[in-house]
Amino acid sequence: MLIWGCNNKEAIKVEKGVSLELAQWRKANISMVNYKLEFRVPEAYDQQIQALEELTFNLKEVDQDLQLDFKEDASKLKGLIVNGSSVPILFEQEHLILPKEGLKEGFNKVEVNFFAGESSLNRKEEFLYTLFVPDRARTAFPCFDQPNLKATFELKLDLPNSWNAVANAPVGTVQIKDGRKQLEYQKSDLISTYLFSFVAGKFKSITETIGGRTMTMLHRETDENKVARNKDDVFKLHAASIQWLEGYTGIKYPFKKFDFALIPSFQYGGMEHVGAIQYQANSLFLDEDPSQNRLLSRASLIAHETAHMWFGNLVTMDWFNDVWTKEVFANFMAAKMVNPSFPEINHDLNFLKHYSSAYSVDRTEGANPIRQELPNLNEAGQMYGAIIYNKAPIMMKQLEFLIGEEVFRAGLQEYLKTYGMSNATWPNLIEILDKKSEADLKTWSEVWVNSPGRPDFNFAVADGTGTLSQTDRNGDKVWPQSFRMKLYNNGRKDRKELQVVSGGDPYTVALSNSWTDFDVLHNSNGIGYGLFPPAYNMIEKRWESLSDLEKGSLLLNAYENLIEPANHGQGNQYSPGQYLEVLQWIIEREQNQLNLNRAIGQITSIYWNLLDEAQRTALAPSLEKQLYGLMLKADDAAIKKMFFNAFSGVTITELNKQHLFDIWVGTSHAQIEGLKLSENDKIGLASNLAVKMPDKAALITNKQYHGIQNPDAKRRFAFIMPALSDTAAVRDAFFESLKDEQNRETESWVLSALNYLHHPLRKTESVKYIKPSLELLQGIQVTGDIFFPKRWLDANLGGHSSDEAIATVEDFLKENPNYNKQLKMKIQQSADFGKRANAILSRDKKITPR
Ligand SMILES: [Zn+2]
Repeated sequence: MLIWGCNNKEAIKVEKGVSLELAQWRKANISMVNYKLEFRVPEAYDQQIQALEELTFNLKEVDQDLQLDFKEDASKLKGLIVNGSSVPILFEQEHLILPKEGLKEGFNKVEVNFFAGESSLNRKEEFLYTLFVPDRARTAFPCFDQPNLKATFELKLDLPNSWNAVANAPVGTVQIKDGRKQLEYQKSDLISTYLFSFVAGKFKSITETIGGRTMTMLHRETDENKVARNKDDVFKLHAASIQWLEGYTGIKYPFKKFDFALIPSFQYGGMEHVGAIQYQANSLFLDEDPSQNRLLSRASLIAHETAHMWFGNLVTMDWFNDVWTKEVFANFMAAKMVNPSFPEINHDLNFLKHYSSAYSVDRTEGANPIRQELPNLNEAGQMYGAIIYNKAPIMMKQLEFLIGEEVFRAGLQEYLKTYGMSNATWPNLIEILDKKSEADLKTWSEVWVNSPGRPDFNFAVADGTGTLSQTDRNGDKVWPQSFRMKLYNNGRKDRKELQVVSGGDPYTVALSNSWTDFDVLHNSNGIGYGLFPPAYNMIEKRWESLSDLEKGSLLLNAYENLIEPANHGQGNQYSPGQYLEVLQWIIEREQNQLNLNRAIGQITSIYWNLLDEAQRTALAPSLEKQLYGLMLKADDAAIKKMFFNAFSGVTITELNKQHLFDIWVGTSHAQIEGLKLSENDKIGLASNLAVKMPDKAALITNKQYHGIQNPDAKRRFAFIMPALSDTAAVRDAFFESLKDEQNRETESWVLSALNYLHHPLRKTESVKYIKPSLELLQGIQVTGDIFFPKRWLDANLGGHSSDEAIATVEDFLKENPNYNKQLKMKIQQSADFGKRANAILSRDKKITPR
């Protein structure tokens, strides 16, 4: 029987989180949402925050109870008035239920008297900041917590008198009363709940006006030189980003104001709350002599968060399965806009960092596609990771190349205009672009966006034709893409530079008789995505004649091949030791900072992960000597620092450990001319030395602790000190303490501490933490912020390659066959590198005995 047009709709199930079903129903029935919110924040951070809410909205029809999301204890709710009548509090499965009897068609008003939930308020001793992405607004106050029910907010903050604050809208009125400060903000623009935010506390405030725009920055830095050194650049970078985006999009900055706050130990690099961006303070306030990399990262971060004002905040994803769209545009725009500020940097070369990061997931068994399903917002955190931040920009670059820059830009402008102050899906954009382009973008998107993985490229020559083809390890997909390839004729001074279009049909090139002996640089401009055949022999042979970009691409691909266990034993494959020698050769002559940085990074990774202990011990004296010598020789302060960090990272010989100790103490004979160590550097050095010189650990950490000037840095160090202890019982107790959610509150501290707990020199003692760390994962996914589950896994599994470590992970997955699919993928991603290292090391072990 068919019941067409039946009105007897089923009630939406009341379940934890925000289900897609609930969100769709609310989107169809609710509109014109406004939140009036008042928070009274006591100075003492262990006292509760009283709050009042007045929520108004339009309801299309009243056919069932209405669920407001509130992920807190019901006891926090003190009173509820619906449309003027007091209503008993009905609380179920993280929802405050508004019975349909009290609701009406059209305008409704709901008043709630409550204590604010604190799990996402990040309350510290002297400040707090909200961080509600992706579905955490509902942890603080009752709301419709879904990105496509945009609302206006009228916020009132009642704060200690000495505090400053920043929120989404400009301040309307300020009143000082009884030692308290009452800030009443204007009505905000139309924004999603995850973008509602305020920061309040003992912050210093700086205001600057550039190009007619006045911006305010809050910060807690105590080093005035550091502030003076950085502040103007920070403002200028924001102003330049806004100006660039207005030009590219054709849309003026769409919100009422633009401020930002620098927060110590912030969970991420930044978060793009409308008009009130939050940043990790150290990402913007740099130490002296920052490397080009650091300067570029800072500019990119600022550009990224600013780009979100258009991509994400003006047009928002309809549901968090498309959160990647805002991230890819922010990254993509950031890459485009930092160029003018850094003419001396090779941006194509810098773009290669996305490949390393995307491959780190795409080469694993747990690889995820860019676009994923998301049945409930309480799993939205799992959408985040290297694939959306790093593979998506690569995909977007290929897409722009495919349809052309102008069509691409026109498509984005239409998208922003069509969906401004509203929401859109990825298919909405593809539809716009598809109309404007000849290419079949829907098929294209199916592979690049909806599927995981990367192709293997193969180049073969037969009968005067070279053929470049793709294979897919997990099926028969083809990744349509374009990049450049170079062929060098060894017999004569001849070469070919080709623009490859690789897709369903293999790419071919005619090779005349003179092309019998030649070298191939398969992906010379680095744009191609996949594993290309290795070309180790070309590195030293052609290094001097390669462009910076070609060098970077070659190094990237060489390393990808090095960590393919299946490659080892093949004729053209280098062992880790052989490749390390090549890298040592490179760092003697390479001038480009980005390439140098990549080479040093690979050296460090191979040294700790792909050499066995005997090999490492044998290599250490000469490697330490080389890095130290290069540091002394370097004229450029940033390169000097780079070599110093590498030197202190790899050092294991007694002599050099003592030398580092003397540098840290500040002994006069150990001072290195031109090397400036900031307080953060000293803290890092002390931590490193505490692990390497266990008999001095207590002395080092105590002295360092008492020497720290910055109070936030001091709290951080106090937290990680037990992880640096030479006493196993202290470290065990520290790990044990992480089982308590409260002790995981400042996630960046936890991650630093874990890195020391699992330092490569302590692998045999720390392998026992793997199992409990996996057992904690589901809890961490519930309580932690979006990046924490993966970072937690990386910190706990990343460096482990022993048989025992591999078996622990495998047993865990076997014992939990019905484990959450997304979290299982994350475990596979984090465990992947150790598995590769294990396979390569055990293979080497098998062949060495003769
Ligand atoms: Zn972002």
